[in-house]
Amino acid sequence: MNDVPKLFGSLVFNESVMKDRLPTATYKAYKAAVLAGTPLNLEIANIIANAMKDWALEHGCTHFTHWFQPMTGITAEKHESFISPTAEGRVIMDFSGKELIQGEPDASSFPSGGLRATFEARGYTAWDPTSYAFIKDNCLCIPTAFCSYTGEVLDKKTPLLRSMNTVSKAACKLLKLFGIDTIRVNSTVGPEQEYFLVDKKMWEKRKDLVYTGRTLFGAKSPRGQELDDHYFGIIKQRVLSFMKDLDDELWKLGVLAKTEHNEVAPAQHELAPIFTTTNVASDHNQLMMEFMKRVALRHGLVCLLHEKPFDGVNGSGKHNNWSLSTEEGLNLLDPGKEPYKNLRFLTFLAAIIKAVDEYQDLLRVSVASAGNDHRLGANEAPPAIVSMFLGTELTAVLEAIAADKVYNGNPESYIKVSDDTIPALVKDNTDRNRTSPFAFTGNKFEFRMLGSMFSIAGPNIVLNTIVAEELDEFADKLADAPDLEAAVYDLVKETYKAHKRIVFNGNGYTDEWVDEAAKRGLLNLKSTPEALPYLGHAKNIELFEKHNIFTKAEVESRVEILLENYSTTISIEAATMLDMFHKDILPAVTAYTEDLTKAVLDKKAAGVSAGFEGALADKLSKLGGEMYASSLKLEDGLKEAAEIGDSEKQALYYHDTVLEEMGKLRSAVDAAEALTGGKYLDYPTYGELLFGVNE
Ligand code: ADP
Ligand code: MG
Repeated sequence: MNDVPKLFGSLVFNESVMKDRLPTATYKAYKAAVLAGTPLNLEIANIIANAMKDWALEHGCTHFTHWFQPMTGITAEKHESFISPTAEGRVIMDFSGKELIQGEPDASSFPSGGLRATFEARGYTAWDPTSYAFIKDNCLCIPTAFCSYTGEVLDKKTPLLRSMNTVSKAACKLLKLFGIDTIRVNSTVGPEQEYFLVDKKMWEKRKDLVYTGRTLFGAKSPRGQELDDHYFGIIKQRVLSFMKDLDDELWKLGVLAKTEHNEVAPAQHELAPIFTTTNVASDHNQLMMEFMKRVALRHGLVCLLHEKPFDGVNGSGKHNNWSLSTEEGLNLLDPGKEPYKNLRFLTFLAAIIKAVDEYQDLLRVSVASAGNDHRLGANEAPPAIVSMFLGTELTAVLEAIAADKVYNGNPESYIKVSDDTIPALVKDNTDRNRTSPFAFTGNKFEFRMLGSMFSIAGPNIVLNTIVAEELDEFADKLADAPDLEAAVYDLVKETYKAHKRIVFNGNGYTDEWVDEAAKRGLLNLKSTPEALPYLGHAKNIELFEKHNIFTKAEVESRVEILLENYSTTISIEAATMLDMFHKDILPAVTAYTEDLTKAVLDKKAAGVSAGFEGALADKLSKLGGEMYASSLKLEDGLKEAAEIGDSEKQALYYHDTVLEEMGKLRSAVDAAEALTGGKYLDYPTYGELLFGVNE
């Protein structure tokens, strides 16, 4: 369909549909409740529910669901039909306000980290009216928050909404001092989503991809990303038609899919939406990931969202572009032409610098997972050390303030592209830095450490909360200042001096930075088991409790869930390795070795002088021995790991011992695979997977 404006949002019960279908008084009551963050009364909910149902039926729906985001990191839904029996033995299609506002799915099998025993399985879902209802698979989906019978938070949406409220409150309070009176400040996010596409027929033959989402074996392909020819390269027809189809589906759901391009690794691509408020961005990112997978299948492809599907080429991340803007649309992170004189901007900037420095551990934890460990702190971007990039100009401004000097840099500099035909481009007042985990990019910060599979909720809960904490503190400090300008410069000066260790504008991939960061006292939490316990540190629990995001018990349960998730992931990967090793790899290597040995004997019998066969068989036989010994150790490791009761110790054991042994098994297998004849291998190689989509 070419009429994109007509297509866009056609499956969404959005403002314009509501305006059309709701009585004016109901619409106004709904808007007022959303703005004030207060619950809807039942009478209003009944009217909305009825209008929603009529709209959904017209679009072919038979069911509705409360669509929520449990701590699994993905979405959950339980479909209920609209049918309601009549006395005459017929049914009518019915949907009440109560059903809209609240649901009660059985919650027993969702992770709760010990918050709730199975016999207290009840959980509630509650409509989040700030995110529109939409239609998926003939089902009306109502975005909801999810909590337990006793009110404990069991999902990712509730804390995200709370964090948005707390940062709004703190920012509004601070803005008042600068003469800006607004009812709400929104945190906005535009998440850039990276992914791989591989041919489905090949994917089916790789148990590692099927069970774990990443390849656990695989000799390097003769060609990888060395030529740098894939990044922004011409998009293949098959991929293009996938992208077009995906855009259509996302547009129907009101997702602002905008930018598409090939990424660095072969078979790697990216889709970025236009930014929106954080909870909507988070819902939309979930839909984006879901539809990437679905639409890929229609094109005979499989979409891999794992952070590291292939060794030796880039992994996939998600860049979380984040900013704050007032309800009226004023971007608070826009420095303007003269950042030096922009007191409001400088105050917000200083607060964010302080937040990132003081809570670097929380930011690191928010992006920790078994999959993301292959990116952060491994040989790829960004490093596990949290630091901030501010660019030359902002750093110079802050340095000048710290030294009590007047800043007199060029407020606006131009790049001259050519003498006449092309007008001069206004140069971004931040240069680009692709290696920084947390980079200022003109009017927003780009948090680049997220893994491609992540829900963006977690990192944004942390970001909003830590910034709220500092904004609130700054507002209190500046409240009674007789001279606001002097007080702001003082505050910015003191804050920058105390926290400038977190600012690093250089190349974050180098070993020198690792040493330098250690000297500065920055944390370098290389793995998930090492990082997770920081979530439960007293200062962090205090922060979350103060801002009413999580209780101590909820934080502790989350640590528990994340540790368990880590251990389970590694244990599934190890088991898959052993399975592939015994079922596919060992038989292939053995068969080839046997054929080579036979050839040696045949040659001897025929009186032909011995050739290469013996040497190759020898090599493979040695590698076979290594692989086998390694597999035995891995089996022992798995058994040992399963016995460990303490979840922190268990996760560490999986990391230090099991993962280590998996690496050893892999390197022996990969060496053997490279030497084994193609017809002996039952599964596609790296080269076939990475360069398999050619039309
Ligand atoms: P890149 O990082 O690849 O250069 P862009 O600068 O074009 O990409 O933007 C990346 C993302 O940042 C997009 O999703 C865009 O919508 C988002 N973005 C732009 N402005 C803001 C903002 N004020 N708040 C949040 N996200 C924003
Ligand atoms: Mg980016």
